[in-house]
Amino acid sequence: MVFMEHPENNAEYKGLTVNKGIEQPLTINPYLNRKVRPKRRLFSVNEYVDGIVKGDVSVLSQAVTLIESIKPEHQAIAQEVIEKCLPYSGNSIRVGISGVPGAGKSTSIDVFGLHVLERGGKLAVLAIDPSSERSKGSILGDKTRMEKLSVHPDAFIRPSPAAGSLGGVARKTRETIILCEAAGFDKIFVETVGVGQSETAVYSMVDFFLLIQLAGTGDELQGIKRGIMEMADGIVINKADGNNIEKAKLAATHFRNALHLFPAPESGWTPEVLTYSGFYNIGVKEIWDMIFRYFDFVKANGYFEHRRNEQAKYWMYETINEHLRDSFYNDCLIKDMLACQEREVLEGRSTSFAAARHLLDVYFSHTKDIK
Ligand code: GDP
Repeated sequence: MVFMEHPENNAEYKGLTVNKGIEQPLTINPYLNRKVRPKRRLFSVNEYVDGIVKGDVSVLSQAVTLIESIKPEHQAIAQEVIEKCLPYSGNSIRVGISGVPGAGKSTSIDVFGLHVLERGGKLAVLAIDPSSERSKGSILGDKTRMEKLSVHPDAFIRPSPAAGSLGGVARKTRETIILCEAAGFDKIFVETVGVGQSETAVYSMVDFFLLIQLAGTGDELQGIKRGIMEMADGIVINKADGNNIEKAKLAATHFRNALHLFPAPESGWTPEVLTYSGFYNIGVKEIWDMIFRYFDFVKANGYFEHRRNEQAKYWMYETINEHLRDSFYNDCLIKDMLACQEREVLEGRSTSFAAARHLLDVYFSHTKDIK
């Protein structure tokens, strides 16, 4: 072999030879028993629909999660599922239940729920709570607040969709109703706090609107907006127990008198006022006898169908409004311009109308360009 100055010059030399190294220890402790959770797969639209129609509550829950999701791909699946579930929906009684915090909504819904389930069928309890500070108030539709119902095999309880615009939250609840009905839930309760606009949203999706009230200090009607009382198909005074019974009866008389002052409801039904105790389960049967009487009445006179049609129409326009609003405010050009236009208005350099007109013009010409 010819001696070479450098080993690289040797023909046998392989510069890329890799020496076998020592075996490295595992980076994961082999004794650790890790449970690898399989990533939850999104079902196909048909799998969702089949599961829902078969009454599979786990599939139903997952579909509701899609409705609540803000991801466009989830929304797209959700909308298809809803559309396919529509033919199976509608066969239910939908009851809105409203009352101020502390009125006894969750206590009552627990008892009401058990009462209606005794008559058979399945019950879904949904909620509309558009307040952004959920932790401050009671969380509507919270299972821990409905102890007995939450463990009942025929009850499905779903808390309010996360805070957002009232229209958005309400639409999601309305869509959830469709899925629940397709899953065989023939009784739907929609709970809301009686403090503002959310009653109107609930009213727009239920057949019967029940207002829970408390006997107060004599002036029971104070603070209740006329519009809310006008929406009520039934008013019930809770906590009519112990030494509160007389006060509750007096409150009921006040409400009955007040109701006389309103024009007769379109349904032809005269709203009834009853007293009860959710906690002691007194008078609950009477409330539900009244509610079922209402359903017989409005189904016979055609109002039930009429009200649902009106609601369908209302939701068509609401959905258009919501989409237009979202599309406008999420437009990148508009997002850039909004703060500046707002300043122009506040500093008196532009009027509200001129600024709005300008933004809308920009939006419409911009969206036309995109097409
Ligand atoms: P919500 O905020 O409207 O859901 O009200 P809750 O159901 O949480 O009830 C508020 C408080 O009122 C709780 O302490 C209940 O125990 C109490 N409560 C509810 N219903 C009755 C009732 O019929 N009688 C009495 N005395 N207390 C009740």
